[in-house]
Amino acid sequence: MSEERNGCPSDQEYVFGKSYSCPVCGTDFKNPTVKSSKARMIGSDQDLRPIYETVNTIKYDVVLCPHCGYTALERYFKTVTQVQKSLIQEKVCSAYKPREEKDTFSYEDAFVRYKMALLCSITKQAYDSEKAYVCLKAGWLLRGWRESLAESGQNTVIEKLAAQEDEFLKNALEGFQQANIKEEYPICGMDENTVDYLIAALSARFEDYEMALKLASNVIASRVASNRVKDRARDLKDDIMAKQKGRTDI
Ligand SMILES: [Zn+2]
Repeated sequence: MSEERNGCPSDQEYVFGKSYSCPVCGTDFKNPTVKSSKARMIGSDQDLRPIYETVNTIKYDVVLCPHCGYTALERYFKTVTQVQKSLIQEKVCSAYKPREEKDTFSYEDAFVRYKMALLCSITKQAYDSEKAYVCLKAGWLLRGWRESLAESGQNTVIEKLAAQEDEFLKNALEGFQQANIKEEYPICGMDENTVDYLIAALSARFEDYEMALKLASNVIASRVASNRVKDRARDLKDDIMAKQKGRTDI
């Protein structure tokens, strides 16, 4: 329960209260945000989850208005149409009980905020890409949470988090596939090759190797893809080939 009250005190030195004005209720508030000078990325997973040296910035990517409950990923928070505003007010704000938000977040705190961001994105009928991005980041958050418990022996909790991670990433995959067909690039700040690679990596995770290999090959053959994303696509392809070879050897 102490974590429930305290958020995550070890994040304190990396986080500050950034000022926002809520586009739905007009209230000014501060939202915990990682100081950019403190976010040192030291690597990334196959599905592009960034890994940070100290504070896990994914915990702080959601902005929540503590007065009305309107919540979104930072990059989408300020942009709300009149229709979306009405939908949020009618379906989210009317049921929201204002509460004092914490200065830092435990994984549990952050996950509650991601679920709120997903609810708001569904309510405001956001683009598939926005919903997919919330699901992707929520999946990454759950992975970080699970990893933070690796030494704890809480195997039942870890299994539950892994199952939830799968569920969120599956929804992310479906959303990005839809967005890839329907939306204009860039999508969530990513170019077409990066999204193709991401869909390939997520497809591979759910063992749709045919789709994964097709998209990875497209990225490798692309004339405009960066070397960085091409290298990743090659690694993914090698990884899938090795897995398939492993299977036929058995
Ligand atoms: Zn508000």
